[in-house]
Amino acid sequence: MQIQIIPIPAFKDNYIWLVHNGNAGLVIDPGDAQPVISHLKQLGLNLSTILITHHHHDHIGGVSDLLAAYPEAQVFAPKLETFDFIHHAVSEGEHILLPEFELTLEVLDLPGHTLGHVAYLSQSANDSPILFCGDTLFGAGCGRLFEGTPAQMLTSLKKLAALPTETRVYCTHEYTLHNINFALGLEPNNQALLNRHQSTIAQRNQLLPSLPSTIGLELATNPFLRGHSLEIQTSLGLKNASELEVFSITRDMRNHY
Ligand code: ZN
Ligand code: FE
Repeated sequence: MQIQIIPIPAFKDNYIWLVHNGNAGLVIDPGDAQPVISHLKQLGLNLSTILITHHHHDHIGGVSDLLAAYPEAQVFAPKLETFDFIHHAVSEGEHILLPEFELTLEVLDLPGHTLGHVAYLSQSANDSPILFCGDTLFGAGCGRLFEGTPAQMLTSLKKLAALPTETRVYCTHEYTLHNINFALGLEPNNQALLNRHQSTIAQRNQLLPSLPSTIGLELATNPFLRGHSLEIQTSLGLKNASELEVFSITRDMRNHY
């Protein structure tokens, strides 16, 4: 069976990812119900599953209306956060079986952006892994630290960095180009980053999403996974600083970029 994964744009720069098999659909972080419902209707799909990565409104705002329209849909959301809709509370190490999509999703705890933030990782035997990582890892960037510490976020990002390089990364926001512009200030000679800059500009000029990314591409271009880069350390005036120090200062600079 062939599943398809398509982005449903929402708000200014959110993507609600829709996974479907031609009959049933699954959405991740539906901040808004309306665009999801119109896509489901257009494609003739029944909504079977909703996955939530964290409690921010732009990720959960559409859940109640979706459940009103598709009462059979089951919702999975992080155990460490509270939600006012009925859901299965999940945390690290649990597996979600979704036979209709031939998917088994492993839950990863990723504290940092929020304390209970989780990601969902596919364990498909014959295809490259799929990661739905919410607001933890972005194209060439990472989420802001609203609740967690820099140490927690760095640990979470390292967990993702250790995944197979071919893992396809589905982030929730279209921030890639702005992140690349920031990253070029730290690593102006990183050829992979320069290449990504060109290809992302081309995608965005055609109004195409810059996502999914891959773990391999992020390892090569994402400054938040590249604290070991001498060029970044030199740009920050932080040679011989700890990885955590480099990460904290990079995150802080990005907040004001
Ligand atoms: Zn968020
Ligand atoms: Fe968000």
